[in-house]
Amino acid sequence: MSIDHIGCCGAYCRTCKPFNTGSCKGCRLGYDTGERDIIKAKCQMKVCCIGKGYTTCADCPEIGSCPMINEFYGKNGYKYGKYRQATEFIRENGYEEFLKIAENWTNAHGKYK
Ligand code: SF4
Ligand code: SF4
Repeated sequence: MSIDHIGCCGAYCRTCKPFNTGSCKGCRLGYDTGERDIIKAKCQMKVCCIGKGYTTCADCPEIGSCPMINEFYGKNGYKYGKYRQATEFIRENGYEEFLKIAENWTNAHGKYK
């Protein structure tokens, strides 16, 4: 488990099925090594977050007023609310506490104690 496996939006790649079956490279992995080019990334939240030098959007002081991430979190679908919850959890408790909980998940999101 590693902080690098946490997606910019709060999805947890390490326990995400597409990541584990090899159909997704993960949100943030490979950009620091030059293996992937952030300019080519489709997800604009990721482009913004990595471009600003944040680990995830949880580090961003503008998150409350960011239309991009708030529209994403407001989308129809259970997972979007769970990604918001992950980001809020990280903002309140930090990455280490998040990783302790997320390592037991079987999806890109999961339960909190
Ligand atoms: S939706 Fe975007 S920010 Fe979220 S995990 Fe996927 S690429 Fe990363
Ligand atoms: S401005 Fe929005 S998308 Fe960009 S880092 Fe902040 S919260 Fe994330």
